[in-house]
Amino acid sequence: MAFIIFLLMKGINKLNSVGKKEEKKEEVATTKKCPYCLSVIDIKATRCPHCTSDINLQEIK
Ligand SMILES: [Zn+2]
Repeated sequence: MAFIIFLLMKGINKLNSVGKKEEKKEEVATTKKCPYCLSVIDIKATRCPHCTSDINLQEIK
């Protein structure tokens, strides 16, 4: 019986940590820094709204 509870707790902990990781990823993925003027801009932007520089899409990684 105790073993089953242990497994349940382990599973819940795993789910919690996965959820936290996904939240963090989303947070990071919404914005990026312009490599030219270091302004925070939308992650999907291909052109910086502050200095109008073209931003290579490969920078998103
Ligand atoms: Zn810029």
